[in-house]
Amino acid sequence: MVKILILGGTYEASELAKKAASLTNIRVKVSLAGRTSQAVASNNLRIGGFGGVTGLIEYLKSEKIDLLIDATHPFAAKISENAATAADNLGLPRLMLIRAEWKSVIDDKWIEVENIETVVEILPDFAKRVFLTIGRQEVTAFSQLENIWFLMRTIEKPSSDIVLPKGLLLLERGPFDKDSEKQLLQKHNIDTVVSKNSGGNATYAKIIAARELGVKVVMVKRPILPQGDRVEDVESALLWVKGFES
Ligand code: NAP
Repeated sequence: MVKILILGGTYEASELAKKAASLTNIRVKVSLAGRTSQAVASNNLRIGGFGGVTGLIEYLKSEKIDLLIDATHPFAAKISENAATAADNLGLPRLMLIRAEWKSVIDDKWIEVENIETVVEILPDFAKRVFLTIGRQEVTAFSQLENIWFLMRTIEKPSSDIVLPKGLLLLERGPFDKDSEKQLLQKHNIDTVVSKNSGGNATYAKIIAARELGVKVVMVKRPILPQGDRVEDVESALLWVKGFES
């Protein structure tokens, strides 16, 4: 029996877990950071941090994991780095499943920046009404921009200690379609969309909507991720797993 640990928190990770679990001789365990409230730990699901790279190494050893798949979000750089270090340390095969990033096309008005801090710095130069779609964790940094109104969209309500910028919070989960995204941008007179370059289809409609309406997009580039085997879709990850099925 080959035991796989999938580091999750993405749609692709859940899909891969479902498909890999149906293979012969493969046992799957999924790990989530525990950022959302719905997940409940079970036989094949564990929740919460490992306690850094040492904790992860200990876990991999104690659970006798044979293969490690890092299917975390492309902006979850710390856990990916820990996964690479831990797998190298134990000589475990490791695969990264990371969806392809979005590329700008003609008519896109993208301003690409390195990180969220840079977005905060540059927004006052040109933005008045911003659609902020970067998740819950980093919205507080924008609350210092008092002359900008923010439309924020997150999947879950930010905790009460998170200071929100001035504006309106929508609690919604994708996928979203282009027409409703266009209506949303128009309804709130949005002049700038702020997005991470997450890739994938589920949240791409806002990028198309911005393009068609001539709205600027401040696109946060991906962090640098570890070297190693990498695939962009679930089927390719499954093929990699099948290579170890005995
Ligand atoms: P991060 O900065 O890379 O990780 C911070 C710490 O959270 C890690 O050091 C680890 O704690 C713990 N952690 C992260 N992912 C974990 C996992 N799958 N299983 C167990 N522990 C995990 O990660 P993040 O950006 O906070 O993202 C947290 C989770 O949310 C990730 O699983 C990611 O896939 C998902 N997510 C992130 C984003 C985003 O924009 N960052 C968007 C959508 C989903 P220890 O050091 O204690 O092990």
